[in-house]
Amino acid sequence: MTDLHRLSIRELSEGLAGAKFSSRELTEHYLKRIEKIDAQVQSYVTVTAEQALAQADAADAAIKAGHATALTGVPIAHKDIFCTQGIKTTAGSKMLDNFISPYDATVVAKGKAAGLVTLGKVNMDEFAMGSTSESSYFGATKNPWALDHVPGGSSGGSAAAVAADLAPFATGTDTGGSIRQPASFCGLTGLKPTYGRVSRFGMIAYASSLDQGGPMARSAEDCAYLMNVMAGHDAKDSTSVEKDVDNYVANLNGTSVKGLRIGIPKQYFNVQGLDADVKARVEESLKKLEEMGATLVEIDLTMTDAYVPTYYLIAPAEASSNLSRFDGVRYGYRCEDPKDIMDLYKRSRSEGFGKEVQQRILIGTYALSAGYYDAYYVKAQKVRRLIQQDFLKAFESVDVIAAPSAPTTAYRIGANLSPVEMYLGDIYTIAVNLAGLPAINAPVGFDKDNLPVGLQLIGNYWSESQLLSVVHQYQQATDWHTKRAAIAEENA
Ligand code: GLN
Repeated sequence: MTDLHRLSIRELSEGLAGAKFSSRELTEHYLKRIEKIDAQVQSYVTVTAEQALAQADAADAAIKAGHATALTGVPIAHKDIFCTQGIKTTAGSKMLDNFISPYDATVVAKGKAAGLVTLGKVNMDEFAMGSTSESSYFGATKNPWALDHVPGGSSGGSAAAVAADLAPFATGTDTGGSIRQPASFCGLTGLKPTYGRVSRFGMIAYASSLDQGGPMARSAEDCAYLMNVMAGHDAKDSTSVEKDVDNYVANLNGTSVKGLRIGIPKQYFNVQGLDADVKARVEESLKKLEEMGATLVEIDLTMTDAYVPTYYLIAPAEASSNLSRFDGVRYGYRCEDPKDIMDLYKRSRSEGFGKEVQQRILIGTYALSAGYYDAYYVKAQKVRRLIQQDFLKAFESVDVIAAPSAPTTAYRIGANLSPVEMYLGDIYTIAVNLAGLPAINAPVGFDKDNLPVGLQLIGNYWSESQLLSVVHQYQQATDWHTKRAAIAEENA
């Protein structure tokens, strides 16, 4: 079969179970595509061909022996922030260019237990700080829809790999939009789960109170399959919540769009910098949902102006603390010939971290320093609570909240936005992390340059099933999620 990369996860699962093709054939097919096409996209940092083929053979044996899961033998790409035993984990940084973790992240271990085949590790902004994937030490990943544009970030490698059909789905992480925004820029479906739903064990920390892993794929149905693997309590992560997981696949038709109350925050559609095409496509998608029986309700999210300043204090503050472990002593990059211990710390960190990361460590350290702690960090935490309360109040009268995922479509590579311009691009995603809520991106059309536009739906706590279900039904009634970038049409 030459079009294995066109199959959905359900089709792959059924095809493998029915012996229409083997996991080895499927894995070889994807590896060939990566070899042929990824030089243009640059989504992979590491391709693990040998291990993938061994996992594929084991999967084929498991299928024959009758102890396969729904995903046994299906390939996946992992964001290079998830630790993988025996395989390099870089977090997009020179600091970890040669880091090989002695253990697997829980998400990776669960994937292995489910029989997934790891194709490799995909690119990202350095330590997940960014919105373009350009801050990676390994260079910029390209947007498969337009190779001179960014795929978004920080999970840009995950998004580009799936959008170019170089993996059927991928893991991502979202601290302030890093699943939803690249999904939006690359025309994919991506889910940021409720904080605590997916284990953070072995996921290199950026801002621990905001970080959450989740699935990135072509459809809500594909995401549901991966959520079934990723979700769940983990004793190794004290912030993962002991709460039963849903069967996200079985629940895909569990929520009716008929009667669904969708909140439209009046502040969100008047944001300065909201692109006219993005606004139009999002409004069209809401109209479609209305035709399907949903009711649109105007709501007030009064704290909108506080999102960017609050997030850009709390995230760097936590990052400055988390990244203090990269000191040139314990692991990671170490400078040449240090004069003394101070020189070792200073030069290892100056040489090992890129500019954006250093900037955030400085801001975060400043915000946490004794003289400014109350004025900045404590204040931001108080505002964070108000942002959360704003959402909780809204959920008293609506079931989900709609927004664009980003104010624009993908930027040009090298556009060199100022930090403030780039941070303002996170306006629609970061409040969700501050509140710990789940949210999903769904592709809803294109702008005038044929770049994808995404709709974001934000749900109440633990409503992942509902979000996946609403998007699934939207995708049954529309075909935006089936559109492929030209490069994905190329055959290996
Ligand atoms: N763009 C945001 C930032 O740079 C979000 C990144 C993320 O979610 N990891 O912090």
